[in-house]
Formats: sequence, structure tokens, C-alpha cells
Amino acid sequence: MARADDDSWDLASSVGATATMVAAGRAVVSRDPGGLINDPFAAPLVRAVGIDFFTKIADGELDLSDLDPESAPRVQANIDEMAVRTKFFDDYFETATAGGVRQAVILASGLDARAYRLAWPAGTVVYEIDQPDVIEFKTRTLDGTGAEPTAERRTVAIDLRHDWPTVLRDAGLDPKAPTAWCAEGLLIYLPPPAQDLLFDRIHALSAPGSTVATEYVPALRDFDPDKARAATAVFQQHGLDLDMPSLIYHGERHHPGEYLARHGWRMDGVARSELFRRYGRTAPEPDPDNPLGEIVYISGRLD
Ligand code: SAM
Repeated sequence: MARADDDSWDLASSVGATATMVAAGRAVVSRDPGGLINDPFAAPLVRAVGIDFFTKIADGELDLSDLDPESAPRVQANIDEMAVRTKFFDDYFETATAGGVRQAVILASGLDARAYRLAWPAGTVVYEIDQPDVIEFKTRTLDGTGAEPTAERRTVAIDLRHDWPTVLRDAGLDPKAPTAWCAEGLLIYLPPPAQDLLFDRIHALSAPGSTVATEYVPALRDFDPDKARAATAVFQQHGLDLDMPSLIYHGERHHPGEYLARHGWRMDGVARSELFRRYGRTAPEPDPDNPLGEIVYISGRLD
């Protein structure tokens, strides 16, 4: 279904299902004992959402070699990427808190369980922002497992196209203290002007010493929905009504690193293949049909 300015979802539908998809990837890579990340909350959360295809992937019940020969390497590459992507943002938060930041904001938190699994310094407050149904589901599900946050976790249940800064400040965010911001897997689901507004708002709420991490997807410029539809046909083949191309806003948009640099942030970026190398992993073969191409992982600081 096409996107609309006021659309909403839960974790089993529309953009919400993409949070379940990436959590399924985290569940798989967390099974590797020598792996880069360990997210023990991913599998139970995915199971609780109940999308059969993602549950089977998360639980290792679906052998990727059973997928069609074009989809199998693509799904594997996406799973592999979840290890390096998750590690990138985990390391980002570790560096920010080691530098003294004691408030973190996870924008579009989805099924991200960092507030439950990272070793936050005492006194850290972690804010999670996502749509109300998403926030409510994760909180209820993790409460049900007896999981305890490792920081003070505060939730902000609101659409990021609405006035979230007011609600975030009401929840206690102190704009005079530095904040570590994270927007992981979010920007492609925002229209370009909403992305700019997001970073304007982040900048307005950021004291010196604040940090930010996100991604840039250059391939959105030449994104071909039909090609992307063919590349994600595996969902339909497995009975999942998830039309990824229709969820993504493509076309020209600002590079978030360049945009924030214009606001005075010192920004840095690392391309996906380089990130694999950084973490001692073999990057998947470049896939000309991958609709998102070579994602660039970006982080920066406001001095
Ligand atoms: N950051 C999480 C992660 O990496 O596991 C979730 C990423 S998931 C691919 C995309 C997330 O963006 C979903 O949780 C979705 O609800 C959230 N999202 C997208 N657009 C949003 C909006 N306008 N308001 C609130 N949340 C939004």
C-alpha cells in the first residue's frame, strides 16, 4: 500500500514490519558464538510479533538454501549486514558514553533492545521514539519476559513526522546536556523534507558534545521500484504481504553528513564494504540488483 502523510502501523504491518525484519537478522547473527553482536532479545521479540517468515528465519527453522537461488544470497547478505550495522551503532553508543554523554535518543527504535543489552554507565537515560503501537508492543513483550533495562529507559510514543521534540523534552531530555542520537534504519522511510526537519530538530536540541549516527543510501537517487520489487519477491513467495518499494521514499535527498556539517557538526562516513573490513568480516559480493546498494554509515559530533 502506498505511503501517506499520516500513515501508522504496528510491528506486523507496513514500515513496522521492517523493524521485525531487521530484528530477525539480529536474531540470526546473535546465534554465532564468535559473532560481532549478541542480542538475546531479538528472537523472542520477533516470535512475539508472529510473522511466520521472520519467525522461521529468527529461529533457524528456514534453511536459506531452500529459498530461490536469487533470493538466498540476498537474504544472507542482509543478515550479514545486520551484524556489522548493529556493531557500528553499539560501538557508537559506547564511544559516546565513554566521552561522558549520559542521555541517548534512539529514533525509530523498533525492536532495538539496546536499552536492555548495552552496558550503559550509571545515570544514563535512554529515550526511545517510535510509533505508539511499536513502543507499546516492545515494552509489553519485554516486560513479559522479565527483562530489565540496563539504563533508565523512557519511551516517547509518537510519529517522527509530528512534534516529537516537545514530547521528548516533556519526557525529560535536557537540551543543555549533550545527547547521543541514533537514527538507524529510519531515513529511507521519511520523505526528504521530513529528513531535513529531523536533523534540524536534532541540531536544535543538541548541546556541544552531542553525537549522532545514521546511514546514507546513495542508491535512493536512482531507485527503481520495479527492480526493487523483483529483488524482494521472496516476501510474497513466503506469503508475506510486504511491498518494500512502496514503503521507501526515493529520489534526491540531502546527504545527512553534509547536511549536518553545514550546521557545524564534524561528520565522518564509512561505506558498508569498508565496515565489513573494519570488523574483520568478508563483505558480500556487490549485488547490482540490491535496491539499497552501498549504504554509508555516518557518525559525527557537535563541538
Ligand atoms: N532502528 C530499528 C532497528 O534498526 O532495529 C528499527 C528500524 S526499522 C527498519 C524502521 C523503524 O522506523 C520502525 O520501527 C518504524 O516504526 C520506524 N519509523 C519509520 N518512520 C517513522 C515515523 N514517521 N515515526 C516513527 N517511527 C517511524
